[in-house]
Amino acid sequence: MKISNKIKSKSGLAIVLSRLKGFEKPDARLEQYPTDSEIAAEILWFGLQNKDMEKVIVDLGCGTGILGIGALILGAKKVVFVDIDPKAIGIARENIEFVKSELKINFSGKTEFIVGDVNELQGIAADVVIENPPFGVKKRHADREFLERAFGIADIVYSFHKAESTDFIDDISRKKGFKATHFWRFDFPLKQTMDFHRKRIERIKAGCWRLERVQ
Ligand code: SAH
Repeated sequence: MKISNKIKSKSGLAIVLSRLKGFEKPDARLEQYPTDSEIAAEILWFGLQNKDMEKVIVDLGCGTGILGIGALILGAKKVVFVDIDPKAIGIARENIEFVKSELKINFSGKTEFIVGDVNELQGIAADVVIENPPFGVKKRHADREFLERAFGIADIVYSFHKAESTDFIDDISRKKGFKATHFWRFDFPLKQTMDFHRKRIERIKAGCWRLERVQ
């Protein structure tokens, strides 16, 4: 399984990911904000170079699928897309079709789709979890729930959170036998998709952690 021959660079990947469809009517309670395509490409391209992509991957809280689809393009063996919102999963499926049939980017990785609450997931194992979950703004501890689930699924976890969550991430990782190997800081653009947003693009300080089980 090799990276699609049409994608030769991180910026090439970002361009493809920028063409994917986002949420139609984002649900604020579920904190439905898609990952920015440049940021997604940055992390996934690192994952490729770090040999974390040619694996079985779970995209937890996949939304419209940008992270998992990027992983498929970079040669993932299989991606399991999980989200509580069936409409988001529907768009993720459409996006995969779009990449294959319109952009003519082929990939041979398998796909699986699960509509369900991360807290009720059972019997899932993978090599890597990639997640940009709710940041726990609307539902307290939603970020913690995702992280705990991720630790139960794989030995390697890429997880996005608010930058100010650093202490909590360190703490919970240590308790669960994980350590942070890499950290990226981003100004996360939250595009104005929800009624209560005033500025057109709000930016929040966020980060992505690569966490690995301590052997
Ligand atoms: N990972 C996507 C979406 C980020 S938005 C991306 O990077 O673009 C967060 C996603 O988590 C939304 O799609 C939302 O529907 C999903 N979500 C929120 N709570 C959930 C839960 N309890 N179980 C599963 N998915 C959940």
